[in-house]
Amino acid sequence: MDNADYLDVALRLTNATLTDVDALRAALHDEPWWSSRAGERDLEALRPVADGLRHALAAAVAADTDGVRHAVNALLAEHPLRPRLSAGHMGEANWHIHMADPGESPATEVAAAAAWGLAHGIVHFGPSRFGHCGAADCDNYYLDTSTNRAKRFCSPRCANRVHVAAFRSRQSSSSRSSGEAGEGARRS
Ligand SMILES: [Zn+2]
Ligand SMILES: [Zn+2]
Repeated sequence: MDNADYLDVALRLTNATLTDVDALRAALHDEPWWSSRAGERDLEALRPVADGLRHALAAAVAADTDGVRHAVNALLAEHPLRPRLSAGHMGEANWHIHMADPGESPATEVAAAAAWGLAHGIVHFGPSRFGHCGAADCDNYYLDTSTNRAKRFCSPRCANRVHVAAFRSRQSSSSRSSGEAGEGARRS
């Protein structure tokens, strides 16, 4: 994993529903090392981390510089990195770095990775590159890496949903107004 992956961990944790262990595992599915071992304790430990990430991202969206700095620094202080070099967990060498001792709970490493990933993401992209989904019923945050900064939704799914709803409401209002015109014509 590299810094971009850790930012992705931060966003997946931010946007996870965290209603139960399955939801947590789904959010961490790209990392079987975490998802396969995650349990109830990890879920409880990661809920406040997700809240902290949401605080930081809300501040980023509001262009609140101090708010971003305070929220991210609080996460970094609470969940410091304790990097460990690993030669792999199977027979073959597969060098990589863990963000905490691999013997620690998944939550310990996920929290540290997410805090570090968001801190690095703010430095690398700038806080204005983060957004809150424009769909009224979606509470997800996203990173906009488009060249024209045109991203408004967390996912193609939300974008499609909103565009289809807007299209339908345009269609129904235009058919209403042509119906009215027709009635007017009959009356005259
Ligand atoms: Zn490992
Ligand atoms: Zn969305």
